Amino acid sequence: MANHIQAIRGMHDVLPEQAPLWQYAETIIREVLGAYGYSEIRTPIVEKTELFKRSIGEVTDIVEKEMYTFDDRNGDSLTLRPEGTAGCLRACLEHGLLANQTHRLWYYGPMYRHERPQKGRYRQFFQLGVETYGMAGPDIDAELILIMHRMWQRLGIRDKVRLEINSLGTIAERSAYRESLVTYFKAHTDQLDADSLRRLETNPLRILDTKNPDMKAVVGGAPVLMDYLGESSRAHFAGFRKILDDLGVAYEINVRLVRGLDYYCNTVFEWVTDELGSQGTVCAGGRYDGLIEQLGGKASHAVGFAMGIERVLALVETLTDVPVARPVDAYLIRVGEQAERAGIRIAELLRSEVPQLKLQVHCGGGSFKSQFKKADKSGAEFAIILGDDEVSRGEIAIKPLRSGNEAESAQSSLGEQQAVAFFRQRYGKV
Ligand code: ATP
Ligand code: MG
Repeated sequence: MANHIQAIRGMHDVLPEQAPLWQYAETIIREVLGAYGYSEIRTPIVEKTELFKRSIGEVTDIVEKEMYTFDDRNGDSLTLRPEGTAGCLRACLEHGLLANQTHRLWYYGPMYRHERPQKGRYRQFFQLGVETYGMAGPDIDAELILIMHRMWQRLGIRDKVRLEINSLGTIAERSAYRESLVTYFKAHTDQLDADSLRRLETNPLRILDTKNPDMKAVVGGAPVLMDYLGESSRAHFAGFRKILDDLGVAYEINVRLVRGLDYYCNTVFEWVTDELGSQGTVCAGGRYDGLIEQLGGKASHAVGFAMGIERVLALVETLTDVPVARPVDAYLIRVGEQAERAGIRIAELLRSEVPQLKLQVHCGGGSFKSQFKKADKSGAEFAIILGDDEVSRGEIAIKPLRSGNEAESAQSSLGEQQAVAFFRQRYGKV
């Protein structure tokens, strides 16, 4: 092993045995997004560094210390995307998609942050991002919650996550709050850690987001942003809550929830779990109306969320009986010259007639015994067996490989069309 080049720390391979779980979750996620009429957008993994600095904010963990930034050969500063909101909005502005229009979009892919790797925290990780544009009311905020709620239900992890919500009000309300927050923390500087002392000057709200347990008391005594909200922000939050109440979606109001990024306003939310240690936030988001102007667009509305797929999968993995797809349904064994030729032809016939069937053809020769071993190892439900005898009789032998299906336990010999019918009945979706 010593001479092998290893993967980059914090960046993981998804091995073939893990891929079915990913695909299972990804399929459900796509189906739920489809059910709400959302469209996919794909943007580059690399963007100009400036985009992230301007959108995420200079005084954030991401921009201060987590970005993978490099100069390309022209000397331009580029960054591997640490999140998808900035790129998605950049693309929509660039292509004029936002003028008096509404959009419901999603993207899925790897994000990059130079953090200390640990369980649930990686340097390359996958996010599902959902962004909506042009809608002002709390109904779209609530729709996003319903989407996530439905995803948890479909994935079977609804009882493992809980929803926390808060309102950050408008920028003006926040700046009034900010003043009293600074006054409060300045009176308690002896209880602040180094990071928080620095943030006191730059981004005091972020102190509320601290993960340092020693600061729990001082943060607990701080003034509450909710008390500084004006009429319209209160109405927005009440409208949002009413929809969740009507539909029976439980939540807790967490007045300390501020989110790491600067661009949020009004609604913010997080789905958290107690099952993944300190990496407990699986999904987070909120309203960020201000960002569109900040990136040079005409004032409009935006709400979105990002879901950490590895953390979601870690929860799904705790379930028993996750119905992941089998990579191979049938394994075709062929022994003898005639059988080898017929085998490939029959496999192609089956693939044409039953496109859903996952059929692997044994390659590389070998005895029946050794091919059966491979068939068994493939995980297939059925072996399709061809020897020269079968070929001369125009027959195809089919043998179930998994116990449990008593009625099908016997080997049967079928003609080509019967074999097609056999697999179509089992695997061909209507
Ligand atoms: P955290 O507080 O855990 O650092 P964050 O506030 O930085 O999260 P966001 O930028 O809101 O996270 O990203 C949304 C989601 O993406 C997170 O809730 C989490 O599930 C996931 N996520 C963020 N950073 C990582 C990472 N380094 N590794 C794995 N998942 C991550
Ligand atoms: Mg983070």
